[in-house]
Amino acid sequence: MVTKIYTCRHCGSDDVVKNGKTRHGNQRCLCHTCGKTLVLHPKESNVARYKEQIIRSFRERLSLRGICRVFKISECSVFEKFNEHSRHLPNFKQSLDAARPDDVIELDEIWSFCTDKEHKQWIWTAICRRTRQIVAYVIGDRSKETLQRLLRKIPDEYLRCASFSDYWSAYEMLLCKGNHELVGKETGETAHMERWNATLRCRISRFVRKSLSFSRKLKYHHLFTKTFIWFYNLDHAINTF
Ligand SMILES: [Zn+2]
Repeated sequence: MVTKIYTCRHCGSDDVVKNGKTRHGNQRCLCHTCGKTLVLHPKESNVARYKEQIIRSFRERLSLRGICRVFKISECSVFEKFNEHSRHLPNFKQSLDAARPDDVIELDEIWSFCTDKEHKQWIWTAICRRTRQIVAYVIGDRSKETLQRLLRKIPDEYLRCASFSDYWSAYEMLLCKGNHELVGKETGETAHMERWNATLRCRISRFVRKSLSFSRKLKYHHLFTKTFIWFYNLDHAINTF
């Protein structure tokens, strides 16, 4: 028989006794010397163990709660994971390839909502026809001001390129740029943008139409959209990062 001696990691004392269990079922101990309670052998958390799979399953339409059920982790932990992940993502512009003078940009906005359908959140995106990368995006209402925010986010080299959009009134202010054209869907000039919209609706559960999945908090909406677009750009990057 082997006697195992436990020592406190705070003070090194071996005067440690069992002191109930944590809500996760781990043995909790109490150190008589320093008075601290501790878990001597914490289990490896599923968040750390399945880090890659969690991010990957999110990109394949699994909802936040779905991820919690599959990997047996709390909603809070998933959010923390994504938050930490997105904090470490480099600047959005770094996910973009360099623009060429003959590049063409397509612009559009699609509808989504947060909490309930009264709180509409429009996601405006600009896509590069050659690379299929999302050049810039914003989330907001459907006004000119939000479009202006989008334009401010588009890198200058892309802003100089020719662009297409539908007839939504906000886009009219782009006409002064000279190389912007308002077109109907039937022309095919915004086909890549329509394809991207379909990708977004298919791949992120909170953008699926008539779905029960939706963002309850705006910060989740921003966070998951950002993470998805970042990876989407990397998948379509010609240069490797
Ligand atoms: Zn101690």
